[in-house]
Amino acid sequence: MIYLDNNATTKIDERVLDAMMPYFTDEYANPSSMYNFSKKASNALKEARGVIKDFVNAKDEKEIIFTSCGSESANTAIRGVLNYNKAKKHIITTKVEHPCVLNLYQTLEKQGYKVDYIGVNSNGDLDLEQLEAAITSDTALVSVMWANNETGVIFPIQKISEIIKSKSPETKFFVDAVQVAGKIPMNVQEMGIDMLGISGHKFHAPKGVGALYVNSKTMITPLIIGGHQERGKRAGTENVPYIAGMAKAAELAIDSLNYEMTEVKRLRDKLETTILKRIYNSRLNTGVANRVPNTTNIGFEYVEGELILLHLSDLGICASSGSACTSGSLEPSHVLRAMNVPFTAIHGSIRLSLSRFTTEKEIDFVCDKLPEIIEKITAISPYQDELAALKKLKNK
Ligand code: PLP
Repeated sequence: MIYLDNNATTKIDERVLDAMMPYFTDEYANPSSMYNFSKKASNALKEARGVIKDFVNAKDEKEIIFTSCGSESANTAIRGVLNYNKAKKHIITTKVEHPCVLNLYQTLEKQGYKVDYIGVNSNGDLDLEQLEAAITSDTALVSVMWANNETGVIFPIQKISEIIKSKSPETKFFVDAVQVAGKIPMNVQEMGIDMLGISGHKFHAPKGVGALYVNSKTMITPLIIGGHQERGKRAGTENVPYIAGMAKAAELAIDSLNYEMTEVKRLRDKLETTILKRIYNSRLNTGVANRVPNTTNIGFEYVEGELILLHLSDLGICASSGSACTSGSLEPSHVLRAMNVPFTAIHGSIRLSLSRFTTEKEIDFVCDKLPEIIEKITAISPYQDELAALKKLKNK
């Protein structure tokens, strides 16, 4: 099996599993209990909060809230700010957010909020002029993902924060950082971020644990109401083993950041350039710069993406055509549509996402096999005249 779908989820690092085990077996106490037996669990929670604080470069560990996933982090931040200050009803986001954010905004629109969706250009880069023009003193929240899950394109978070603060200092800024955690450095203070969400399963921790950074100046009304856990910002007994696992994964991610940005990037670039060179009806759906190091999104003209994925799957290669949350839908990707990827390539686009566990041998295997697969599928495409014209053009 060759796993090239690390933006959907990642393999749990064995060291993460080891760090979790004691809290399932011997140290199972409720971290909020008063007796000595709970000390190890409550210490694990405290240490994990410190690690995640360092992971995102927050000022204070009190600014970290543990959640169950990236979707919960986003919902807590967005609903939390809007419910705290109900006077402001304007939100700005992008057309290419993850469904956990986009679908929430569609729900909020039905509840009377006005939402502006900022567009991107054909490289996937955000239209900052449109964003700036949309901000008013009535804007409660600007919500922008740090990197896109389908394309890997990184948005200029610091620049966006400067624009927001210069036009409307009261406006809050939420960043969905699920796809950058462990891939590039994060510094919420330097970047001027008010709230930031991450998800453990995207950086080799298990599914079902996440974190939300909320800076000390940002007030939120809790989404989950109940006990006093997480300083009253997220009720529910903390999931100590998973939180300890996510903290271990964050430590490992900090250690391997350099590897991600050099070696993983080198393998991604090798895969990408080989495919683009060997397959005449392929196109890179993004620009080359401003991307997380592990992701490529490539379109194959006049062929069906699902068919490519099935052929890859037959060889044990896991890839995807977009967000796992929208797979199964026949609609082309909302991200690629926003980028105006030509209709000839949008249905034949696939995302390949690597991790620190991806090997050169695996990449070489995919580089060998993918051209054969595309050739086979292209041979049965009903667009033979168009393909012949494209081949002629590329050979020039
Ligand atoms: N945001 C982005 C950019 C994502 O890629 C994902 C998951 O794919 C999420 C949010 C949701 O994270 P989770 O699956 O932990 O809810």
